[in-house]
Formats: sequence, structure tokens, C-alpha cells
Amino acid sequence: MLPMEVLERAQAELLCYGESGMSVMEMSHRTPEFEAIIKGAEDALRRLMNIPENYKVLFLQGGASTQFAAVPLNLLSEHKCADYIVSGQFSKKAASEAKKYGDIAIAASSGGANPVFSTIPETKRSDFRPDADYVHICFNNTIYGTKFNYIPDTGHIPLVADMSSCIISEPVDVSKFALIYAGAQKNVAPAGLTIVIVREDLIGNARPDTPAMLDYKVMAENDSMYNTPPCWCIYMAKLVFEWILSIGGLDEMKRRNERKASLLYDYLDNQSYYTAPADKKCRSMMNVVFVTGDAELDKKFAKEAAAAGLKNLKGHRSVGGMRASIYNAMPYEGVEALVKFMKQFALDNPKMTQL
Ligand code: PMP
Repeated sequence: MLPMEVLERAQAELLCYGESGMSVMEMSHRTPEFEAIIKGAEDALRRLMNIPENYKVLFLQGGASTQFAAVPLNLLSEHKCADYIVSGQFSKKAASEAKKYGDIAIAASSGGANPVFSTIPETKRSDFRPDADYVHICFNNTIYGTKFNYIPDTGHIPLVADMSSCIISEPVDVSKFALIYAGAQKNVAPAGLTIVIVREDLIGNARPDTPAMLDYKVMAENDSMYNTPPCWCIYMAKLVFEWILSIGGLDEMKRRNERKASLLYDYLDNQSYYTAPADKKCRSMMNVVFVTGDAELDKKFAKEAAAAGLKNLKGHRSVGGMRASIYNAMPYEGVEALVKFMKQFALDNPKMTQL
């Protein structure tokens, strides 16, 4: 979802942006208007996340999946080896992509041979190879509904985090990370934009065969405009950042997200019809996974919920069940409506064991 206020503002400006006489969708990226938009988006994100001066903010394309390759291409610079913590499908994919470019070890994993990633592995500094060029984590596991409840201590080794499904949902200490990347489509803007926040000393060491489009140095030197950037998405991102600043920043965003997630988890914890498989210690505030324990009932749930206006509740195809993605823009009332529906569904569909 996108915040209603943002959609309304975009609607009001859709045909004509300011004095430009055209829509942002029609605008050249080399106009003063768009230059102000991209600069405004960066400034707002810097304020929102309190990004230190020695970090570059890049607005890129290709989704978070392209960063699975860009990160090793740029960062496997010294020892050509890196360590990955695997806590779900996306970190697994990131590790296999990186294996094309260097010596990649799985320092810790919460999945077995047939992985059900219901928790986050605990790690200590000695789990990482001292000569690793970086350590990679996926901070929030979209599919399994788990989130790191700690920031791994990697000592001097740069820590890289995929924050696609939790960026700007709460404050994070950017200085604890060497690089943060995120596809924009969950909390930031429509699909098509990828945000990379990277410490300056990590820029400029890409492999010589790195495509220019994936080279952080090329992108940083050109203020993310080496080629045509996703202008509309950047404009929408700016509106979203400004909206969060206007409601009180990430502290307020966190308060709202916690309130929403607690409503759903409190209900789940105090009934027996549904089970929430994610480890309580590391539950995600953004993605809440639950199952009835009966695949047919799960299917019926998703179908009837959609008919009742509660869309996109089917779990990821690899895990089944249900997943409520309650990103920033989901209002509290949306979660209230879901809990009400869940209660009624449980009454209307007793399980065999309950008859
Ligand atoms: N990482 C995470 C945590 C994700 O949730 C997703 C997409 N859902 C991806 C990576 C892949 O992102 P993209 O589709 O932008 O490549």
C-alpha cells in the first residue's frame, strides 16, 4: 500500500507538476524540476534515516535482486571472500548469486536441508572469517515473517543488509552498516526503484569487468543519473519520505507499526485455531505469517478474505498458509478488519478435531 495522502498528492499533481506544464511521468531527468525532485528525495531520506555524511545515497534500478550481484562485484575487493547469514529465501538467493564472483561461505543458517526458516540464527564475531570482505544479512525475511532482533557483531568486517521489506519502518543506526539496500516496492514507492546507502570508503573498488550500471562509483559520480533514472518512482519516494517526516519521522512510524503488529500477534497468541510459525523472539513487524494447519482451510481463508476486501493474504507459494503484509501505509483499521474476519472464519469453519 501507499499512504492515501501521498496518492492524493500524486493525483493532484499528475497532469501538471508545479509550473512545469507537464506530468513527472513526461519529464526529462535533465530538467531543473526533476533535479530538484531527486535532490529533495535524497535530502528527505537522509533526514528520515539520519544518514551520516560519509554515506552515499543511490537511486538505482533492477530491484533488490540486482544488488545480489552488485554487492559482490563492488565489495569483493580485497580477499575475494564474503560470509552470508542465510535466514530465508532472499538471503539464500543473494548467497548463490555472490558465489559466481568469489569464495562465499554460509556463516550461519536457520534452515536445514529442507528449510523452514522460522527463526534467525544467533551469531558471534568468531563465526565470521577475519579476512571476509563483508558479511551479508537479510534484515527482515518477507516470506517467513522473521526479522533480526540484533545487529550481528562483525568487528571490522563491513556489514551489508538487504532491508527491502523493512526499510523506513523504524529507526536503524545506519552507522552500524556498511551498506543497506532495498527494493522500494514495499515501504517506499511503486516497483522500479532500488535504494542503496553505501559508506564512501567502499566505493571505487569494483571488479574491472563490472557493468557500469552496477558500479557504485559510476552511479555515485553521476548522482544516480548515469542513465535515465526511474523518475516517477523517485518522485513518489520523495512524497513518501516527506509524509513520514510530516507525521513525526521513524519514531512515530515505529509506534504505528508496533501497534498494528501487536494487535495481530496478541490475537494469534491468545487463541488456538491459527498458528504463527515464526519464532516469537524475532517476529517481523511487517509480515505476519499464520496457518490453520489444514491446506484446504488456508485456501478457503484466502479466497473468502479476498471476497471480503482483505486482499493479498495468501502466503508465499513456497510456504503456503497466510501472510499479512502490514507495511507502513496499512492503517490500524486494516488490521482490525483482518482480526475480525479471522475470528468469524474460525467460528464458521470448525476443524475436525474441534467437532
Ligand atoms: N529481498 C527481500 C527481503 C525481498 O522481500 C525481495 C522481494 N520481495 C527481494 C529481495 C527481491 O526484490 P526485487 O523484486 O526488488 O528484486
